[in-house]
Amino acid sequence: MSRHNIVVVGSSNSDMIVRVDRLPRPGETVLGGEFNLVAGGKGANQAVGAARAGGKVAFIGRVGSDMLGDKAVAGLSKAGISVEHVVRDPKAPSGIALIFSAKSGENSIAVAAGSNGRLSPGDIGRAGKAFRGASILVVQLETPLASVKAAASLAVKAGLRVILNPAPARRLPASLLRQVSILTPNETEAELLTGIKVKSPVGAGRAADWLLARGVGTVIITLGRRGALVATKEGRTLAPGFAVKAVDTTAAGDIFNGALAVALVEGRPLPEAVRFANAAAAISVTRLGAQPSAPARAEIDAFLAARAR
Ligand code: ADP
Repeated sequence: MSRHNIVVVGSSNSDMIVRVDRLPRPGETVLGGEFNLVAGGKGANQAVGAARAGGKVAFIGRVGSDMLGDKAVAGLSKAGISVEHVVRDPKAPSGIALIFSAKSGENSIAVAAGSNGRLSPGDIGRAGKAFRGASILVVQLETPLASVKAAASLAVKAGLRVILNPAPARRLPASLLRQVSILTPNETEAELLTGIKVKSPVGAGRAADWLLARGVGTVIITLGRRGALVATKEGRTLAPGFAVKAVDTTAAGDIFNGALAVALVEGRPLPEAVRFANAAAAISVTRLGAQPSAPARAEIDAFLAARAR
């Protein structure tokens, strides 16, 4: 049996998407088009992104003891992810996101964290077995900060590298930043983390330096279609994005993080790993939805082969 080497700790949500001609105003009912129930949640997205990209993944999180929880766990299993350490919450319902998606491309989203909000340091401790023998932890900020800190500490103790995708954006304690091998904010998150304006390349560089000075090993600021800025103590490089026809950028960052973990676990050098992650994320934006947009390994390899210099 092939054991996992990537541990993902984080959220699982069910995205309930209604396509509408335009977003409803307060008090208004808009007769919607199609309804779609799509698996989401940053943690689960990154786990599926990694598994589809060829990683062996264990997911640690909390879902409700309800139908949506059953569906979420079944989806993860189907992607080949170990769900041994997914806790079924006896009280809180599974996390959901209610999404209105308008023709204009605008959307409006309300999230009820449900069981995700109850992922605890105790849950992480009880899943300690999953960390043994693994090489990378991937974690985000859609579960309580205490669970993120517990996961990072356990990972560092067990010798795993820590990829922290600081989304949704918030300020982070210095003690946590020091434990992070690779921090992967997008531009908005980098700005919020550092208080430095990131809109320009100079600004992004400054924000990266600010984070490196606080003990983060490598900073990768994702720049949408422009790709990603990679910064270490040795210097900075831009890993250019791939030109594709973007249809839906939901979960682009999640797919990027999942694929990045896979490439690093396989021992690829950082620039090559970021190129792989850019490719996986670029493919994902050509498709609708979060987890359904995650490309398979063969697709990523073919995409890169077609663009080899
Ligand atoms: P997030 O989705 O977290 O907001 P970004 O928008 O920076 O993060 O996107 C993450 C990654 O997804 C980028 O680094 C890039 O590799 C890829 N990506 C995003 N948008 C596009 C696009 N329009 N075309 C190609 N690649 C994209």
